[in-house]
Amino acid sequence: MSFIVQKYGGTSVGTAERIRNVATRVAESHRAGHRLVVVVSAMSGVTDGLLKLAREVSPEPSAREIDMLLSTGEQQTIALTAMALHSLGIKAVSLTGAQAGIITDRLHTKAKIANITPKKVFEYLDSGHVVIVAGFQGQNDDGHITTLGRGGSDLTAIAMAAALKADTCEIYTDVDGVYTADPRLVPTAKKIKEISYDEMLELASLGAKVMQARSVEFAKKFKVKFEVRSSFNHNPGTVITEEHAAMEDVVLRGVSLEKNQAKVTIIGVPDKPGVAAGLFSALAESGTNVDMIVQNVSAQGTTDLTFTINKDDLPSARKVIEAQAAQIGARNHTAQDGIAKLSVVGIGMRSHTGVAATLFSALAQAGINIQMISTSEIKISVIINESEGARATQVVHDAFKLGN
Ligand code: ASP
Ligand code: MG
Repeated sequence: MSFIVQKYGGTSVGTAERIRNVATRVAESHRAGHRLVVVVSAMSGVTDGLLKLAREVSPEPSAREIDMLLSTGEQQTIALTAMALHSLGIKAVSLTGAQAGIITDRLHTKAKIANITPKKVFEYLDSGHVVIVAGFQGQNDDGHITTLGRGGSDLTAIAMAAALKADTCEIYTDVDGVYTADPRLVPTAKKIKEISYDEMLELASLGAKVMQARSVEFAKKFKVKFEVRSSFNHNPGTVITEEHAAMEDVVLRGVSLEKNQAKVTIIGVPDKPGVAAGLFSALAESGTNVDMIVQNVSAQGTTDLTFTINKDDLPSARKVIEAQAAQIGARNHTAQDGIAKLSVVGIGMRSHTGVAATLFSALAQAGINIQMISTSEIKISVIINESEGARATQVVHDAFKLGN
């Protein structure tokens, strides 16, 4: 008997039939004698639909009310999943995030988990129930419902696995693992058997949409080994675990593409201490996540500063940038979307050379212009036009011979 946390994403519970399919799988594990906690997302499209409704009634809906609204999506699926299990003769109970003991900070729509007191979860497990927990939500210390950021059900599952000290954590989704590139862009992309947290983190945060990046960071911190697999078949998935020596033999693990980026350039920034500090503090305070930052060599006492942010943050960031540009006496500023970030990732890069050369040559041969470059120990990223993203992913994947 093992203690398993399973998580089913929005497409896996997207219709009544699919919920019954999930219930059948859960019932199999339960009958095999395992202790089971099941985390579910809202049915696919529900969260987006609710957000759309919110914007139809208000141009800038309050974050507290957004959380109140969005949390209902997962509440539907926990109840439906419990009902489906009942009809298979399985004892099951649904719990909201708050009922499962998930306490978060007060940052509505992007809350962080502060602690988990899973008293009720253990009580129900001990009395033979399958416990179904609503993903993506918790409550703050004042009793207000919070949500954990888009894709946050992954975080609920990983955090639950850590808090409950479960033996395994299985993330069921509509793809059967992590691939060397998005298979919709690159048909020859291959499934990866095992990767390290850091590689997964780069692949997830760089737009390989398999998992919420924060949940992988959490898993790394608390050493939660987990497997990403499909709820539509019984194929083995991809195991994400701590790094070991053999992993370095592979030069590149994968190519990812992050769309929906925006590029901001501030021109003629006075070259003196404190300018960048002021600008990026103001952006951080407004909740804008800044990604790549490049500052030019200064000429005649001024420099240009270019950085990328998520396209969705552009409207709110624009206000901050305008105010800051005026305050620091910058000459001008521009902001454009339609930008994408392509990255190649692999811990093998630490011990192999020539990765940058291969990447740049592949893009050059395809006539794709590189607008910005950044590197880390295990990744090289380039900013390109979003319209060339798919083609770029294909040529880079080919250049590194990652496919079948
Ligand atoms: N339902 C939420 C979302 O769509 C959380 C999740 O699916 O993980 O972002
Ligand atoms: Mg998801």
